[in-house]
Amino acid sequence: MKDLKKIFEEKRAILSGHFLLSSGLHSPNYVQCALALSDTALSKKLGKELAKRWKGTKPDLIVSPAMGGIIIGHETASAMKIPFLFTERENGEMKLRRGFSVEKGQKIIIVEDVFTTGKSTMEVVNLLKKYKAKVLGALSVVNRMGDKKLPLKNFSLLKLEIKTYTPDKCPLCKQGLPCVKPGSRK
Ligand SMILES: [Zn+2]
Repeated sequence: MKDLKKIFEEKRAILSGHFLLSSGLHSPNYVQCALALSDTALSKKLGKELAKRWKGTKPDLIVSPAMGGIIIGHETASAMKIPFLFTERENGEMKLRRGFSVEKGQKIIIVEDVFTTGKSTMEVVNLLKKYKAKVLGALSVVNRMGDKKLPLKNFSLLKLEIKTYTPDKCPLCKQGLPCVKPGSRK
């Protein structure tokens, strides 16, 4: 596979400039994994790659948090020839809905598009614990957690160092560059 970072840049899934993130922080980069995964041949390839790179026990199923994890989780499960379920938030709480359920002792890998803070991954881990399932680890296409680490076995295809600044300390603001809210038209 060609350099994944280059592919992401070509798909405009990684942007460079001066961005206002949903957290309120400013950053010289913006990642929108969905733009890369909208290429169905690429998402299939990335799913196969994640499946191939998993070196542990074979899981019984893949679980991903909605929305971001759904496409890549499904592709990874498809490559592993195992079922795929997704979790959703209901009143802020991560849940299995739509009649999905997990059996006691089932071996599960969590798959996400991006590890950002690790919060959603851990919410899924805690949910699966309630079902007494065995979480083997977590996989993602992109890891932008910086120095933070997930407390479980994990692997990502692309590690990105994304700098963020509070607006008062943003060097891009000091240079007078206009701050763009991603997704809005220029
Ligand atoms: Zn700024």
